[in-house]
Parts: sequence; C-alpha cells; structure tokens
Amino acid sequence: MTAIYRRAALIGMGLIGSSMALAMRERGLVDEIACNAKSLRTRTTAAELGLADQVCDTPEEAVRGADLVVLCTPVGTFRELAERIAPELETGATLTDVGSVKKRVVESVGGLVPRDVHFIPAHPLAGTEFSGPESGFSTLFDNRWCLLTPSKDVDEAALSRLISLWTAMGASTEIMDPDHHDLVLAVTSHAPHLIAYTMVGLADHIKRVTNSEVVKYSAAGFRDFTRIAASDPTMWRDVFLGNRDATIEILGRFTEELFALQRAIRTGDGEHLHEYFSRTREIRRGIVDAGQDTSAPDFGRLPSRKN
Ligand code: NAP
Repeated sequence: MTAIYRRAALIGMGLIGSSMALAMRERGLVDEIACNAKSLRTRTTAAELGLADQVCDTPEEAVRGADLVVLCTPVGTFRELAERIAPELETGATLTDVGSVKKRVVESVGGLVPRDVHFIPAHPLAGTEFSGPESGFSTLFDNRWCLLTPSKDVDEAALSRLISLWTAMGASTEIMDPDHHDLVLAVTSHAPHLIAYTMVGLADHIKRVTNSEVVKYSAAGFRDFTRIAASDPTMWRDVFLGNRDATIEILGRFTEELFALQRAIRTGDGEHLHEYFSRTREIRRGIVDAGQDTSAPDFGRLPSRKN
C-alpha cells in the first residue's frame, strides 16, 4: 500500500502508541515513524522493540518535519504537550490525538494549534487493561470504531487522509460532536469502569471476604470487574476529570436504576427483574451481532484450573 503520511510522530508509547506504530509499519501506512515518551525506560524499550525509526528525547524533536502528529499520552498531559510542540509543527501537518474524552481536548488543545495546522481529534474505541510499550499489537484496531470530532470548518482533504489511515489500520470511522461523544462514552465505557473500580474496591473493604476468597471464587462476574479495574490509574483518573459532567449525569441515572432494582428485590417483584434482565440480554445479543464481541461462552476463555 502507498504510504498515507510521510513522517508520523507518536507522542506517548503505551498501549495505543505502540499499537499504532506496529499497525502503521506492518501495513506500510507511513514512510517513517518518530516517537517520544516521558521516561528513558519507555524510550529505551521502544527502541529495543523497533517501534520507531527514530526514538526522540523530546516531543519537540519528534514532531519536527512530521506531517502527522498523534498525542498518545494521558489526556491530562495534552495541553502542556500542545504548548511545547505548537511552535515546531509543520505547515499543513495534521495534529490528532487518541484521548478517551473529546470536549476537554478540543477546549484545551484547540486554541493552541497554529492556523496552518489541521487539528482533528480522534478516539479509537479499542484497548485492553494493559499499558506500556510492550502491550501493543498491530491488530488492536481491527473491526473497532474510531470516532473523530473535527470542527465544522475542518479541511476536508486532511480529514479524508486521517480517515484513510484509521481505515487502513482496521477501524471503521464515524464523525461525532465532542459533547455527544463524551455522553456516549460515559455510558459505554466511563461509568462501567467506575462501577468496576467500585465493586473491586468494595470487595476489598468487606472484611468477611478475605483476600483468598476473592481470588478463589472470582470465577463469576467479579473476575471481569477485576480485569477492568486493573486498567491504568493515570489514564482513568484523567478520563474522569476530563469527562466530569457526562459521567456524573450517567452515574445519577445509574443510581436511579439501581434503586429501582433494589426495590424490586426488596418487594419480591420478580416480574420487574425478569423483564429488566431480558432487555439487557437483548443488548448483549446486539453487541455480538454487530461483531463487537464473541458469542463464545465466557468470552472464549479456556477453562482455567480451579486451584
Ligand atoms: P499507556 O499505555 O499508559 O501509555 C501512556 C504513554 O504516554 C507512555 O508511553 C508514557 O510514557 C507517555 N507519556 C505520559 N506523559 C507524557 C509526557 N508528558 N510526554 C511524553 N510522553 C508521555 O496509555 P494508553 O493506554 O496507550 O493510553 C494513551 C491514550 O489513549 C490516553 O489518552 C487514553 O485516554 C487513550 N485511549 C486508551 C485506551 C485504552 O484502553 N488503554 C483506549 C482508547 C484510547 P512513560 O511510559 O515514559 O511514562
């Protein structure tokens, strides 16, 4: 395939940055990859894994001469990084990001981008609970969505070019308003993560459930909560601080639903519970039918040893 960009600069070499590097390289989507990460340790690992042609000590150095710059760091770092790299960005370059929240990114970064640079925020809906440069893999974005939240006056050619990159990395793309993105993600990702964090935290606090019991009997739903609750603390702190309004709105609605279910249990309203759980089962079927998850029992996991 002909390269879509000449030089891509990836700032941040964790799960998303390293997966992008591997996907772009494997599919020949860019001529050259430059990268930067905060710590020497990550930069050394990135070099050892051959994730980039050039591993740079500073973000400024990485973006020099790049026609594509991608912020792949926690969203709380975007503003400071944008301030640092703005003077170095090439005329006509595209600056994008992969941050899990969008309104805050548009507000904090948008005003810092030079007029002759195309700023097109994006969010690939793909991830695992692992982080760091070793956790990436080239197929992470296959059959996943990437949501783009450009401004209304975006340069159409620059937008099409970025869309072709995401498509070539395996994703389907959709354009969304940043506010709408944040509300949708609060429902599908942010609130569920907070609930998982809460359940795991709660289990830890209940004295009767000793640590060994939590581990021993975690074959049921709790195990899936622990997987989600193992996600990167820095990234998720920034997600909740960056998507405060929508998350609080959805958590309010969640609490109301929870109270309704609690009431149904207390009053013995089995009909309500059955009707509710039938609806949620349909939602699960819809996700599987849309190809967003496997229909294999227990997510296709192999049976694990009991002890
Ligand atoms: P990650 O694995 O924790 O990696 C973060 C990377 O950012 C690390 O390489 C880190 O370097 C680097 N970094 C942090 N601060 C920096 C700075 N000031 N300058 C340069 N590099 C810096 O995180 P991730 O999972 O790839 O997430 C990255 C972004 O993708 C986040 O904005 C997140 O919201 C978004 N996202 C994540 C997922 C997911 O499921 N993980 C999915 C979609 C989108 P060091 O290693 O040296 O600290």
